[in-house]
Amino acid sequence: MIKDSEIVKIGNPLLRKKTAKVVKFDKNLRDTVQKMKEIMIANNGVGISANQVGLNIQVSIARPKDKFYVFINPEITPIDAPTFMEEGCLSVPEKFGLVKRHNKVKIKYQDLRGKQRSLTATGFLAHIIQHEIDHINGMLFVDKANEIYEIDNSQKTQN
Ligand code: ZN
Repeated sequence: MIKDSEIVKIGNPLLRKKTAKVVKFDKNLRDTVQKMKEIMIANNGVGISANQVGLNIQVSIARPKDKFYVFINPEITPIDAPTFMEEGCLSVPEKFGLVKRHNKVKIKYQDLRGKQRSLTATGFLAHIIQHEIDHINGMLFVDKANEIYEIDNSQKTQN
């Protein structure tokens, strides 16, 4: 269970561990996802991963607009060549950077019931899920960004 609503920040070793696969698709998992959504919304995020709320499991959520996507044990295959895009992160306050991301990816994942699914994502959703999969693999955007700058994040979206 998520112990508190505080987002885990850079410097915490939890963000640097490759997370464990989800094997139990139960009520606890559904409650965890619900709580993650609430924390993401409260922090004005467009995506969040379980290790950002203190859990060592492969669960990521994306909300490019008003629709939620829940990815459990996700894996991605890039479909096009990457380009630089700006991004920020709830775990790295007030920093943004340019990171190479694909505009089109195929995502294989499981849903809340454990059913295998796949989705071809483009644009912002594709961008978010690449950031989230980095999270569950213990990586942060600052590891990849070719330029990092500080900015008032009140007007920016983050994941
Ligand atoms: Zn992030």
